[in-house]
Amino acid sequence: MTVTVDRSVEEFTAAPRQLFINGQWTTAASGKTFDTPNPATGQTLARIAEGDAADIDKAVGAARRAFDDGPWGRLTPSERGRIIWRIGDLILEHAEELAQLESLDNGKPYPVALAADIPLSADMFHYMAGWATKIEGNTIDISVPYMPGANFHTYTLREPVGVVGQIIPWNFPLLMAAWKLAPALTTGNTVVLKPAEQTPLTALKLAELIAAAGVPDGVVNVVTGFGETAGAALAAHPHVDKVAFTGSTEVGKLIVQAAAGNLKKVSLELGGKSPNIVFEDASPAAVEGAANAIFFNHGQCCVAGSRLFVQEGRFDEVVEGVAQIARSIRLGPGMESGTQMGPLVSDEQLRRVTGYLESGLADGATAVTGGTRHGDQGYFVEPTVLTNTRPDMKVVREEIFGPVVVAAPFSSIDDIAAAANDTDYGLGAGIWTQDISKAHALAKKIRAGSVWINCYNVFDASLPFGGYKQSGWGREMGHEVLEAYTEVKAVTTLL
Ligand code: ADP
Repeated sequence: MTVTVDRSVEEFTAAPRQLFINGQWTTAASGKTFDTPNPATGQTLARIAEGDAADIDKAVGAARRAFDDGPWGRLTPSERGRIIWRIGDLILEHAEELAQLESLDNGKPYPVALAADIPLSADMFHYMAGWATKIEGNTIDISVPYMPGANFHTYTLREPVGVVGQIIPWNFPLLMAAWKLAPALTTGNTVVLKPAEQTPLTALKLAELIAAAGVPDGVVNVVTGFGETAGAALAAHPHVDKVAFTGSTEVGKLIVQAAAGNLKKVSLELGGKSPNIVFEDASPAAVEGAANAIFFNHGQCCVAGSRLFVQEGRFDEVVEGVAQIARSIRLGPGMESGTQMGPLVSDEQLRRVTGYLESGLADGATAVTGGTRHGDQGYFVEPTVLTNTRPDMKVVREEIFGPVVVAAPFSSIDDIAAAANDTDYGLGAGIWTQDISKAHALAKKIRAGSVWINCYNVFDASLPFGGYKQSGWGREMGHEVLEAYTEVKAVTTLL
C-alpha cells in the first residue's frame, strides 16, 4: 500500500519549479531546466530551473542590497526572532506536505521524514529564534601600557558577517537548509542558498514558507542548479562574505580554494568514517544501536557508524545480531507503507556504493550479509555487513555513504582509541558499555566532534555539531554556530 500523496504535493511537483530571487519566482537566465528523479523508480519527479553563474550573480546582488539597504537590518532583534519563530511554526503546519516531498525526492521513508527531518527542522528555527535577542558584546577594561594615565571606554559589538552563500547536500535536504538558514537569519545576515541538485524540492517549498513568515525580499534567495556551475559560482563570488558548506571532503577542499579569491569566511561540515565501539559489557541494546548507527537514512549520514569495533568476546554475537537486523530490513519506496529503508538518492550513489562493495570483496572482505544492489528498478542497495577487512582497505578508509558497515574485533581499551582515531576524519563516534567511567575515559581520547555513549545519531538544535580533522571547520547548531555567522568589532573611546 502506498501513502496517498496530497494534492498540494502533486501540484508542487507538476509545475516547473523556479528560482527564488529577491522575493520573486523566476526562470533561470539561460532558460534551462533539469529533472529531479524519484529514486525509487528512476522516473522524473519534477522539473527544476537550472541556475548558473548569472543567476547566482543576480541572487547575490539581491542579498547584498537586502543586507546593505533593506529593512532586515533595521528590524529589532525581537522582531527578527518572531519572524524566525514563525518559520518553525509554518514548517510544522506543512509537516505532511514537506515529509512527502522529502520522501519522494530523497527516497527516505515518509514516516521517518515526518518523525525526524521535519520536526528537527522546525526546532532549529524555534531554537535559533530565541538567540536573536541574546547576541551580546562585552565591555573590556583595557590597560594600553604605552598610554600612561589614559582612560578608555571599550566594548565589543557582535555583527552579522553580511551576505552568506550556503551550499547543502541531499541526505537531509530540509534539515540541512534549516541548520544553515536559521543561524544566518538570527544573526542578521542575508543568504543565497544552493540546494543539492538531487533534492531541490523542500528547499523551494521552504522559500515559500519563509516569505509567508514575513522575511523581507532578498534576505533569503534559493538558486537551484549544479555544483560545478551554480555552487562553484557562489563559493567564488567576490560579493559573498562567507560560505557555509555541507558535503563531501573532496568538494569542501574546492570550496576553500574558491573562497580564497576574496578570502571570504568558510565553515565546512564534511565527511566521516565514524567508529562505533561495543565493549563486552555493553547492554543487549548495543546490537540494535550498532545497526541503527549505520543503517539510519540508508547509511547516507556523514556521521554514520560505518566502522564497527566489537570487543573480541562478543564479536561473533554482535556482528551476527547486526547482520540479522540487516536481513530483516524491508526495502521499498519511501512512500510505501512498511518500508524501513528506501533507495539511495541517485544512480550515481548506487554506482558509487556498489563500486565500494566490489572493491571490498575483491580485497578479501567477507559479506556476512548484503554486498550487492537490491532489485533492478530504483537505486536500492542491500544493507551490508563486511568482516575480514584490513585497516588499509578502501572500504575501511573511505566514506562509502551507503548502508555498508565494516566490522573488526578489538582486545582492550588501550588499543581501541588508536584504532578509532586511525582515520582522516573526526565527525562522530559511538561507545557502548555499562562501565560509565570507561566510556568517559574513551570519549576524551576520541578525536571527533560528537561522541554518543549508549546511543547514536542523537541530534538537537542546542548541541554543537561539527568535525575534527578533515571532517570540517567550525560548528553548526548550539550557541557555537553564532560565531560562524558573526564578526566581532572592538570599539575604543578615549575618555
Ligand atoms: P555528494 O558527492 O555526496 O553528492 P557533494 O559534496 O558533491 O556531495 O555535494 C554537496 C553540495 O555541493 C551539492 O549542493 C553540490 O551541488 C555542491 N557542489 C558540488 N560540487 C561543487 C563545487 N565544485 N563547488 C561548489 N559546490 C559544489
